[in-house]
Amino acid sequence: MGGLLEVLQNGIEQNIICSKCETEFLLGSTDSRSLQDYSRLDIGFTSIGVQVWCRRHDANVVHIDFADQKPTADFRCIE
Ligand SMILES: [Zn+2]
Repeated sequence: MGGLLEVLQNGIEQNIICSKCETEFLLGSTDSRSLQDYSRLDIGFTSIGVQVWCRRHDANVVHIDFADQKPTADFRCIE
């Protein structure tokens, strides 16, 4: 991450996906054109960090523990 606004660009290198959604999508059992379309993920802060939750499967995808640290977060967006 270099420039000031660079962190506000899409820098996603690896999507966080629900493994159950991925399996269903790869089996071709959905009408969705992409796994991103098929996924229904909730992302939010918890008491220990950030959690990604699959609404479709009502299951945890990942729970990132900040380990009592306060990571820098940028909530601005470029319009
Ligand atoms: Zn899922």
